[in-house]
Amino acid sequence: MARIAFIGLGNMGGPMSINLVKAGHQVRGYDIVAEKTARAAAGGVEAATSNPDAAKDADFVFTMLPTGKEVREVLVDIDKVMDVVGPGTIIVDSSTTDLGATDYIHNEAAKRGLTLIDSPVSGGMAGAEAGTLTFMAGGDAAAIDRAEPVFLAMGKQMVRAGGPSAGQAVKVCNNMLLGISMVGTCEAIALGEAAGVDHQVLFDVISTSTGSCWSMNVNCPMPDMVDTAPANREYTPGFTAKLMLKDLTLSQAAAAKTGAVTPLGEHARSLYEAFCDDRDGEIDFSAMVQMVRDMRRG
Ligand code: NAD
Repeated sequence: MARIAFIGLGNMGGPMSINLVKAGHQVRGYDIVAEKTARAAAGGVEAATSNPDAAKDADFVFTMLPTGKEVREVLVDIDKVMDVVGPGTIIVDSSTTDLGATDYIHNEAAKRGLTLIDSPVSGGMAGAEAGTLTFMAGGDAAAIDRAEPVFLAMGKQMVRAGGPSAGQAVKVCNNMLLGISMVGTCEAIALGEAAGVDHQVLFDVISTSTGSCWSMNVNCPMPDMVDTAPANREYTPGFTAKLMLKDLTLSQAAAAKTGAVTPLGEHARSLYEAFCDDRDGEIDFSAMVQMVRDMRRG
């Protein structure tokens, strides 16, 4: 049993913290929105009164916050969680952040002799609830070994991504490809529809042929093809278009930082930006099919 602080009890952090309680850990949580803290408390998480209050005396401190900005503020710049934890504490940031923020928190931890792991997740809200997330852990190998049982209380798999910031780097690569493949899937559907091909035929052929991918086979933008797809419930997420825009924007920041050239990633980003400007960014990102359809000429 470990003492675990959990900071950020939203869509992901709420169920993740409750899964830690279910696994027998002693969890103290905090969210700036009181109802979120209360909801986690109803699941057995001890309610802290502030982020530093949650973190003091913890063996592990998890952050699951919206962006790198909040992560920097909570750990270093405003709440200064790094200044209240003991030298043996392992800090784990599981938020999806920009590589600049990850480098910053790794450097600040190193300055204080603290151990930090960047470990974003994939698997979405359903995976957070079910405890089937995949963690991508970057940082000190011995610390990752120590944290592994804690990760596995919230997920089905932990990938050792490499050194500091490697977890965020691999996450941004995966999600850039996901955004591109979803746009491609939507274009194939719009082209098939325009050419008079039946949805079922499109699905049966593509999902079993060389065009198959998660965007078609699992999160299919066409309704009535895959039982669990958001398209069957009017695109209730799932994974929101707004979060996809966030991740594609992070991919382009990573490309700029590293010098990598990713023109399709930039194109997918601009399409999701247009989607979120003109439509409801809170619906599932597979609703991109509606925008691509509406772009039809003539
Ligand atoms: P969310 O907005 O539901 O949760 C974030 C929580 O952080 C909110 O409850 C917010 O009140 C809280 N918060 C903000 N500032 C804070 C502060 N200073 N102190 C304490 N709490 C604070 O977002 P989410 O969907 O849970 O996502 C969290 C992270 O996980 C994001 O980085 C997101 O990109 C990533 N992610 C989300 C999904 C998904 O499907 N939702 C999937 C994979 C990764």
